[in-house]
Amino acid sequence: MPVNSEFYKNIVEELKTKNVTLVAVSKTKPAEEILELYKLGQRDFGENYVQELSEKYEQLPKDIRWHFIGHLQSNKVKYIAPFVSLIHGVDSKKLLTEINKQGEKLNRVIDCLLQVHIAREETKFGLDENELHELLTTNYTNLTHVRIRGLMGMASFTDDMEKVRHEFKSLKLLFDKYSLAFHNSPFTILSLGMSADYKIAIEEGSNMVRIGSLLFGKRS
Ligand SMILES: *Cc1c(COP(=O)(O)O)cnc(C)c1O
Repeated sequence: MPVNSEFYKNIVEELKTKNVTLVAVSKTKPAEEILELYKLGQRDFGENYVQELSEKYEQLPKDIRWHFIGHLQSNKVKYIAPFVSLIHGVDSKKLLTEINKQGEKLNRVIDCLLQVHIAREETKFGLDENELHELLTTNYTNLTHVRIRGLMGMASFTDDMEKVRHEFKSLKLLFDKYSLAFHNSPFTILSLGMSADYKIAIEEGSNMVRIGSLLFGKRS
């Protein structure tokens, strides 16, 4: 299936006026389709699986900014640490510490977002508000090779857009509340919104949307 280049051109225009970054979510899609979007100018791509991301990194142009948006296991950090541009789903001190350790080895500071659990469903990963508070108020000045650039969240999987809006609002409040909490960088990135809800996310303050199916078509 070809990429939806009409949609791509329109959303790029729309997001430019709003200062919102588009992460094109290319998980399960072949390298040729990523390259198609790349040729239209897209540079930020999001992937969920470590192995798939590593393979695509090898095959594709080196100026792509790769976003890891899935659930990351600590023992796999080392595979993506050399090249990943932003890790969206950090949800524990343990994982943050491991990313820092790999960053130290590589002499590179790795940008991260903390994933906050905003949906009511039990299946979604992320920190709750207490855990977020705990993580951001304990002493982490030894973490010199990670930067927490902001927060990431996923809304409930529902048609109830008021519920989704409410969840986004609650994350924006946390973003504002903790934006100066981490020692070496203020929050600047709020990663919220996917194909079904990105417009609401932007209305509620998102400045980074992660869009897959509207660009690449449905995943099988
Ligand atoms: C798959 C995925 C997306 C993109 O979802 P679409 O509905 O296809 O736009 C965004 N964020 C995360 C974390 C994902 O896993």
